[in-house]
Amino acid sequence: MCGPGAALRFFSVTCDSRRAMPEVSDGELQPDRGSLHGRLPATLTRSIDHRNPAHMDTVPPDQRSRMMRAIKGKNTAPELAVRRALRRLGVGYRLHVAALPGRPDIVMQGRRCIIEVRGCFWHRHPGCRFAYVPQSRREFWEDKFAKTVARDSRNDAGLQARGWRVLTVWECETSNANVLQQRLSRWLDSKAE
Ligand SMILES: [Zn+2]
Repeated sequence: MCGPGAALRFFSVTCDSRRAMPEVSDGELQPDRGSLHGRLPATLTRSIDHRNPAHMDTVPPDQRSRMMRAIKGKNTAPELAVRRALRRLGVGYRLHVAALPGRPDIVMQGRRCIIEVRGCFWHRHPGCRFAYVPQSRREFWEDKFAKTVARDSRNDAGLQARGWRVLTVWECETSNANVLQQRLSRWLDSKAE
């Protein structure tokens, strides 16, 4: 799924932290709600191993802050892959619906279905090799992860309580377009929660 070459391709996604950012308390990592929608300049993506947040400790604070800002974007590559698969299936959807808990990524109103596309690292894909804990500042990361996971499950529960079916698609599950499309098709046709 996630071959060695996947690192750069997944850049904007792995670091999909928009839900985590508001609770960041570290001054240097304070989010700036402005500009940069999820993409870093090519020079940065080439030189920085985004898979390794420990690496962030080695870059200057202003650059780190730019990195953290850049990674909270919408329209990440996995999200685009899911949307493309839905379009191929002829399924309509709305994006980032603010009226629902957690502002869900993809909402299929008529079907009462929601798809959350989650980055493996930030949202802690269970058992996934990308959901490691960085060596430095472990406590900071663990606290941050715990909050993100708690928020995700609170949002999912809120949606389900309102009668929505919720599917989580992990970043590492979006690399094969055909497999993804088949899975989404099966899920949409099924009655599974
Ligand atoms: Zn994963």
